[in-house]
Amino acid sequence: MQYYVCDGCGDRMARHDLRYTVTVEVRAAYDEVEVGLTDLVRSHRQEILGLIEKMRDQDAKALEEQVYKKISLDLCPRCQRAFLKAPLRFHPEEATDAPPVDIDAFLRSLGFGGQ
Ligand SMILES: [Zn+2]
Repeated sequence: MQYYVCDGCGDRMARHDLRYTVTVEVRAAYDEVEVGLTDLVRSHRQEILGLIEKMRDQDAKALEEQVYKKISLDLCPRCQRAFLKAPLRFHPEEATDAPPVDIDAFLRSLGFGGQ
């Protein structure tokens, strides 16, 4: 039987159980650079060689993560509520025990889905 594992608390979720996915993209932010004529005619060779030298002994994955990192999480309903409460300080143990919303019943009450 296929199942998912909550990345917050580690609980198993059956294939058709309500679960949530969280996608976080962390990108290096740069301000726009104004390029003038002097920048275009100047040789950047030394700068580039210096940059390559600095990166030579660094881990490729760590270098990549300095620029971009995508994180995908599967969350159970309890962890989803805890995540929404404090996305930057998400702790699964702070999840409330409030019953999850019955999405199927909610959609049926709106007239969607089978009777
Ligand atoms: Zn969970």
